[in-house]
This record gives sequence, structure tokens and C-alpha cells, in this order.
Amino acid sequence: MPDSIAGGCLCGKIRYTVSQALQNIVACHCTHCQKASGAGASHNAPVPFDALSFTSGQPKLYEDTAQSGNILKRFFCGDCGSPIYSQREKTPEMVVLKVGTLDNSDDMKLIMNIWTNSARPWMPIDPATACHPENRPVK
Ligand SMILES: [Zn+2]
Ligand SMILES: [Zn+2]
Repeated sequence: MPDSIAGGCLCGKIRYTVSQALQNIVACHCTHCQKASGAGASHNAPVPFDALSFTSGQPKLYEDTAQSGNILKRFFCGDCGSPIYSQREKTPEMVVLKVGTLDNSDDMKLIMNIWTNSARPWMPIDPATACHPENRPVK
């Protein structure tokens, strides 16, 4: 597994690197992620904010109010619209990276599904993964 991973948006104006290996993917089926991604779910990798650096361009911000009432900052490319990462106002030190923007994610595994209560009926969910009807439980 490589030490650093690169990715970017569809048009290529935004490029980033992650300074650590990524393994786990969490699929979020909340209605906001469905709208923001235009898909059945968004596929996220938790990453320390410190590990993410932009080598080209800066994403735009959409400040979303999540179902919980918490502010969720959604960062995306202002030119092509690709979602790049999301950051909770309350816990800015950890962000979730949109794994569809990685150049290569072949070694990663989907381990968890959250907000399955609002999952689209046609969206397949692997029952072998951890599934939570709402947000992941706080440990
Ligand atoms: Zn772009
Ligand atoms: Zn979501």
C-alpha cells in the first residue's frame, strides 16, 4: 500500500494528497448525501484533516445543516461540482473524504453503512457490513 494517496475532482482543477494509507469506507445513505452526490449514497473515508493537503485549487464550501442539527461543511469543486470532503463544525480535526475522487482505491473496503433508514430501496447494502439505521454510534 502506498504511503501517500492522490485524488482530485472531475475537471482536474482540484488535486489533493493524503499523507496516510486509507482502508475503510463508510457509505452514508442520508438524504443530504443523496442530494449532494446525485447518487444512492456517498462513500466516505475518515481522514485526519492534517493528513489532507491540496496541491492544486481550493474547494468551495456549502454549509449544510445535518438532520442532527449540526453544521456540516461540504467542500466541492466550484467548477465541475465534484464533492471532495465534508467536515463537521464540532469535530473539524477529522474529515470524511469522498472516495470516488481518489485516483486509486483498489485496496479499500466498504465496512459500514450509516443512515440505512433512508436508503433508497434499489441501493444494494451488503449485510456482512456494520449497518446503522442512523448515524454511527458514538464510542
Ligand atoms: Zn473540478
Ligand atoms: Zn450523509
